Amino acid sequence: ARRARLAASEGPGLTSDGHPVKLLHNIGSAADLRSEELRAEGVGLFRTEFLFLDRKQAPSFEEQVAAYAEVFRRVEHVIVRTLDAGTDKPLPFLGLPEEDNPALGVRGLRVDRLLPDVLDTQLDAIAAAARETGTRPEVMAPMVTTVAEAGAFARRARAKGITRVGVMVEVPAAALRASRLLQEVDFLSIGTNDLAQYTFAADRQHSSLADLLDPCQPALLELIAMCARAGREAGKPVGVCGEAAGDPLLAPLLVGLGVTSLSMAPVCVPLVREALASLTFEQCRERALAALE
Ligand code: PEP
Ligand code: MG
Repeated sequence: ARRARLAASEGPGLTSDGHPVKLLHNIGSAADLRSEELRAEGVGLFRTEFLFLDRKQAPSFEEQVAAYAEVFRRVEHVIVRTLDAGTDKPLPFLGLPEEDNPALGVRGLRVDRLLPDVLDTQLDAIAAAARETGTRPEVMAPMVTTVAEAGAFARRARAKGITRVGVMVEVPAAALRASRLLQEVDFLSIGTNDLAQYTFAADRQHSSLADLLDPCQPALLELIAMCARAGREAGKPVGVCGEAAGDPLLAPLLVGLGVTSLSMAPVCVPLVREALASLTFEQCRERALAALE
């Protein structure tokens, strides 16, 4: 298994003066990891819901173990996001009640309030796949809103033997509590797609509201800066895994705000690497300050 594992041959992203930024991939399954495309240090967002989509019932424990192990065999460093069901990723078989306002309803980690077995089985399957492949995957939960939710998730995951646990910051309430969240978990990963949606109260799929969803909006940047500062103070990593991370114009700005990793579609890595290499860290900081202004 280890022999087949892809090497992260190109190492971290670097600014022209050598400030390192971890570059990672967003994937939905092992099929997204064609060998010629692993140009990063690992997987920063494994969107597991793709395994659950278009199905009449949940994938079995065994099926999940096989799917996770396939990814772990190929890449050493993987952050698995637990199931992010709801709104833009509906899963009819879960049988969740119809909602008038699903984006503000039972989605992401909140599904666990109604169906705790789903997360339990998934965490068990991730832990089993880790044992089978001799790897140490990390896990993170989507749509975390409070410190209590983060703490409860971290305890559940650690009880299954998963040692590194994080949460996504996709809701302003979580960003505002970043320092306190980092007392419960090992890292934060900022989902700028949802964080923009919930900060500006603008549906992320609404094309006529694109100006509000622009990741350069200062209010969004302030929240990202707040998370990055909390990470620096706690000595823990804070990454971005929303679409903004893969944009070569935005990536230096995010680095200037202080994030330590950028996770993106594999195809985006070369241009982001090039953009970072063309600027000093101080120039990234200047861009970030100018955007905040
Ligand atoms: C995000 O919200 O930025 C994110 C990475 O998660 P998804 O796009 O899967 O909701
Ligand atoms: Mg999201």
